[in-house]
Amino acid sequence: MSDFDYDLFVIGGGSGGVRAARVAAGETGAKVALAEEDRYGGTCVIRGCVPKKLMVFASEYADMVDDAQAYGWDIQPGAFNWPTFRTKLEDELDRLEGIYRNLLKNSGVESFDQRARLVDPHTVELADGTRKTAKHILIATGGRPVKPEIPGAELGITSNDIFHLDTLPDSILIVGGGYIASEFAGILNGLGVQTTQFYRGAQILRGFDDEARGLVCEEMCQNGVDVHLGTNVLEMRKEGDKIWVKATNGDERLFDQVMFATGRVPNADDMGLEALEIARGRKGEIVVDQYSQTGVPSVYAIGDVTDRVNLTPVAIREGMAFVETVFKGNPTAPDHDLIPTAIFTQPEMGTVGLSEEDAAEQEPIEVYATSFKPMQQSFAGRAARVLMKLVVSQKTRKVLGCHIVAPGAGEMIQLAGIAVKMGATKEDFDRTVAVHPTMSEEMVTMKAPVRTA
Ligand code: NDP
Repeated sequence: MSDFDYDLFVIGGGSGGVRAARVAAGETGAKVALAEEDRYGGTCVIRGCVPKKLMVFASEYADMVDDAQAYGWDIQPGAFNWPTFRTKLEDELDRLEGIYRNLLKNSGVESFDQRARLVDPHTVELADGTRKTAKHILIATGGRPVKPEIPGAELGITSNDIFHLDTLPDSILIVGGGYIASEFAGILNGLGVQTTQFYRGAQILRGFDDEARGLVCEEMCQNGVDVHLGTNVLEMRKEGDKIWVKATNGDERLFDQVMFATGRVPNADDMGLEALEIARGRKGEIVVDQYSQTGVPSVYAIGDVTDRVNLTPVAIREGMAFVETVFKGNPTAPDHDLIPTAIFTQPEMGTVGLSEEDAAEQEPIEVYATSFKPMQQSFAGRAARVLMKLVVSQKTRKVLGCHIVAPGAGEMIQLAGIAVKMGATKEDFDRTVAVHPTMSEEMVTMKAPVRTA
């Protein structure tokens, strides 16, 4: 008989926390509890990946009507009805939250709908003052968006608010050049909002392959997003119904709405970490070792609160590795190498491995790339181009990086990711017969490098 109320107490009911809790309870018979102060499902399900992707789908229909006309369909575009979509979206999120709650319940996890903080290495205190003890505590509290400290920033919204707007604005300024800013620029532009994006750097999507992000930006501009590079907001204030914005380039403009997508910070404040001397990093993230263990042996942390690779599937992997390590006696470090990922910009980008620039710094490389107008869009009279690119080691012939900018790039990179993760060489790609006619067949038919570096 354990001296504790539970074998595991999880704080945070997002992707990572829910997975760890239900696998620990369901597969190892551990007695598990979980506390969540907000909605179950966390950022991904409630205010991130899932509603975002549904908005991407919604925003893509405008162009589909034009394309259908080009293919001979006698149909006319109608108007997008935001309240209709938002109501359906809310229903869908309610349904998904219900599934998350049931997953926990059916695995025997006891849940508490309140905030929890640590009192000592084996005790958490719930918001109502109840204390619970556990042999292990897992912190999976995720992150939240932050606004920059500029005058008037409180007038702007973040990605958390965008799903709840009563009406879609006529015009919006999106500040930032990361995943969230670039994805929402495409979404809002597609939904008919006059969209401007300010990014302080030289090119959006910093850190990704230069050629790929250059094409994404070019196509976003072609699609109507007014992208201003090397530009930031200096100050903002209310002017009538609108928000007056002064930019670093001297421009002054009015927008109906301003959305900041200027990064996220870990949710680790006011959790009792300092009293336990649990170390935090520069961004406030909880510092953990390769097994997600903090400096206090009974306390672990996974997901965005640890600011390793902030992606849902990674948090889930970290949760599974935690259960494997702590409850199955099989020390397992989550593998953060060669993680395929997609950015749901329009056009979409899928990527795995090193950018050309990073690979060239590491070793001599060959670059295979092709950019072309895909059949489906070209027939419809669109000028949009796609990119297929492989970065190959000259020495080992291994594909070090694969970058795709194309409709469906997220779906493609999942599969290309398997080959790259297995260590496939360029010659392995070449030995694979093309699937014709597709866009991705170019991945196995690129004969000569476009350059070496
Ligand atoms: P990112 O860190 O990716 O991007 C933040 C952006 O804001 C950068 O362009 C940054 O510029 C800019 N910025 C930061 N501070 C300021 C400032 N003070 N003024 C102006 N600009 C500023 O954060 P996101 O919020 O876009 O995304 C957070 C994380 O969420 C991502 O890293 C990703 O892991 C995850 N995510 C994944 C998605 C997916 O898989 N499709 C989708 C959405 C999010 P600079 O480049 O100069 O630093």
